[in-house]
Amino acid sequence: MAMVKTENLIHDYVIRDEEGNVSGKVRAVDGVNLEVKPGQFIAVLGHNGSGKSTLAKHLNALLFPTGGAVWIDGMKTDDPDQLWNIRQEAGMIFQNPDNQIIGQVVEEDVGFGPENMGVPTKEIWERVEEALKTVGMWEYRKKSPNRLSGGQKQRVSIAGVIAMHPKYIIMDEPTAMLDPGGRREVIRAARALNDVEKITIILITHNMEEAIYADHIFVMAKGKIALQGTPHQVFSRVDEMKALHLDVPVATMVAHKLREHGLNIPEGILTREELGEALGLES
Ligand code: ADP
Ligand code: MG
Repeated sequence: MAMVKTENLIHDYVIRDEEGNVSGKVRAVDGVNLEVKPGQFIAVLGHNGSGKSTLAKHLNALLFPTGGAVWIDGMKTDDPDQLWNIRQEAGMIFQNPDNQIIGQVVEEDVGFGPENMGVPTKEIWERVEEALKTVGMWEYRKKSPNRLSGGQKQRVSIAGVIAMHPKYIIMDEPTAMLDPGGRREVIRAARALNDVEKITIILITHNMEEAIYADHIFVMAKGKIALQGTPHQVFSRVDEMKALHLDVPVATMVAHKLREHGLNIPEGILTREELGEALGLES
């Protein structure tokens, strides 16, 4: 069974004037069909306003369809009886780490989620330890979150979500506010969660390099899925990506330019290593 599935999903935001009367609507998601299988690492790309965050909130039952349907692990999100079960399975990480941390001490913050779920105290502490170790923040457990870097805070947020033992985690541009070092830390943690813990990850990102390791990429434009496939498939379509005002990874672009100049290099190069190999260079 699919972990997450949407069928012709439509989302309209209703716009109201100062008096509160409906003055229009914005179609933010426009007929999206997608399927995410258990254990997959999915990337969602697309520029500002393409509907990524709106889609993300449907995959976690924070929004409900205007049209079409969403299933989470076989449960339909517009069924009020399933809402609690759905929320048990889904975890969500947002852009700004400062808005997600509420505890005064790291370990306390990570324990809030399981505590609210009614997990017994002894198990809470086991989960906190496991989660902080998974994101490499165990040695910071007694620290105040205020004193951490952006990347460290975001990893604490991720630990807080892991401690609730979700089946999948949606990350909505978790690295957008971080410096390059922080971005690497967060992406490494996300990949480890997927590789080691087998948690399904849906990563929404602006950064093409972060999508290289995904099993499957969905590219959104104007509320629709404009392009999808493996990273090799999607990034082979350099001209289509450009037409959508999206970049491709640096190595992909270099390979594309070299090919335009007549060099015999395969399509869909993603990393420096692959580029080096294609050029016959020792790495
Ligand atoms: P993305 O995350 O890709 O930037 P969003 O899902 O945030 O895209 O937005 C998609 C479209 O919906 C945009 O046109 C945006 O202006 C609009 N939108 C988003 N949130 C709201 C809202 N609460 N009310 C009205 N329009 C909204
Ligand atoms: Mg967004």
